[in-house]
Amino acid sequence: VESPERREHLFKVLVIGDLGVGKTSIIKRYVHQLFSQHYRATIGVDFALKVIHWDRRTLVRLQLWDIAGQERFGNMTRVYYKEALGAFVVFDVSRSSTFEAVSKWKHDLDSKVHLPNGGPIPAILLANKCDQNKETSRQTHSHLDQFCKESGFVGWFETSAKDNINIDEAARSLVEHILSNY
Ligand code: GDP
Ligand code: MG
Repeated sequence: VESPERREHLFKVLVIGDLGVGKTSIIKRYVHQLFSQHYRATIGVDFALKVIHWDRRTLVRLQLWDIAGQERFGNMTRVYYKEALGAFVVFDVSRSSTFEAVSKWKHDLDSKVHLPNGGPIPAILLANKCDQNKETSRQTHSHLDQFCKESGFVGWFETSAKDNINIDEAARSLVEHILSNY
């Protein structure tokens, strides 16, 4: 018999990737349903909270950690990563250098935070600004599938903060992975 007990979770989720890939825009879109060309690059760490009524018994509070100003160093302090349970690593499909940086970010993540059981935290790769691309080729799809397998991402989504594409889907997928670790 299932327990009727209500569960509430608070999940810390990191959003990392190079400067200008759209980290802040993705968070604003997801949490506030807004998009603007101009977000001031505030220095430091910013939080946003998204409350998800996951199912009748489960409430999830996603605490999204944005970074500003420190991206240029390509790594973050352990304090920033501490107790995170999931991550999005973002690149910009129109700038290949930001994809090349993905491995570096993933490595930084895996070296600085682990699940309580010692495993890596689930990370999803976001190919952002897909509104600027012609349709993604089948070749790109299988390349990203392969890349995720090799790099230990649990999956990838092409997203657009501008046109609101796949951001909710990516977040749902990450929450599913986080919940499956419980
Ligand atoms: P961050 O440095 O990673 O936080 O990137 P920002 O969120 O500040 O975005 C950098 C620039 O890219 C801004 O001018 C945004 O308006 C733009 N941008 C972000 N997401 C998208 C997107 O999905 N599509 C397009 N076309 N532009 C985007
Ligand atoms: Mg930003």
